[in-house]
Amino acid sequence: MRFPSGIRPAPCEVTVMHDIWNPWHGCVKCSEGCQNCYMYFLDRLRDKDGRDIYRTKAGFSYPLRKDRKGAYLVKSGEMLRVCMTSDFFLEEADGWRDEAWQIIRSRPDVKFFLLTKRPQRVASCLPPDWGDGWENVFFNVTCENQRRAEERIPLLLSLPFRHKGVMCAPFIGPVSLGKFLADGQIEQVICGGENYDGARPCRFEWVKALREECVAARVTFCFIETGTVFYKDGKRYFLPKKQIQSEMAFKSGMSYTGKPILWRLFDPSGNPLSEEELYRPHFRENCACCGSRPICNGCSDCGSCEAKKAAAPYIPR
Ligand code: SF4
Repeated sequence: MRFPSGIRPAPCEVTVMHDIWNPWHGCVKCSEGCQNCYMYFLDRLRDKDGRDIYRTKAGFSYPLRKDRKGAYLVKSGEMLRVCMTSDFFLEEADGWRDEAWQIIRSRPDVKFFLLTKRPQRVASCLPPDWGDGWENVFFNVTCENQRRAEERIPLLLSLPFRHKGVMCAPFIGPVSLGKFLADGQIEQVICGGENYDGARPCRFEWVKALREECVAARVTFCFIETGTVFYKDGKRYFLPKKQIQSEMAFKSGMSYTGKPILWRLFDPSGNPLSEEELYRPHFRENCACCGSRPICNGCSDCGSCEAKKAAAPYIPR
């Protein structure tokens, strides 16, 4: 199957990206943000159906995989984004989740970024030894519009997690979080417009207003990409290439670093890890203008940029 220009296969078990862990794949649409789900879109390009939900094979135990020298592929201090082609709290995955929790438990040196549109299921899906939450889990809810923010953030705030965040993506309507940021539990807000088939517009004034609320509460705000259809100063931009979207988001200067997120990570024997023992991300020339840089693990040295550059050199503008 040939992919349209600028579109890559979804990160799933056949495409392991170093900062993504997909223990299962496939999902059930549950809210407005799911309407144009990118996983469904990319599955369609492969003649697959995003409704087919399955446990991944080799991908399931990715955080435990080691290289030839016996070192973990995922380094201490790295952040893994979990279930980017599904939802960690999906009902259909109930039979697989205990094993996934066991993997998260056995890597207390790695940060696990969980994102859900199903916070109402979370309390019943936590492991028995959860207590007040594990230090290495960053729990996030999606708020694609104000309706979902009002519904999901009270649940986010009531659940026992050490680290909490909000993801306004796809950003398809104005979202005000001021009243939720006030008690200091939310440590990060990410926003980005919608992509691919039927993408709904994102407006710069929504991004700016949300950023102002985050700055007032000293909460880190990251504007990662404009989405395919973006309105700014009365002008409509059509941006099918994600690289350009990300560059525009970066150039808008909207991202903001607030209070630091304090992680307490441990080696598998339970000894605290110092900053010096943690992985330090490194970046390349073409990362300089990327909107996702503040939340990125950095380059994995996979060589794909070089291959792309050789095919069509990228010149930052
Ligand atoms: S929850 Fe996420 S992965 Fe599942 S259908 Fe909705 S957008 Fe797609």
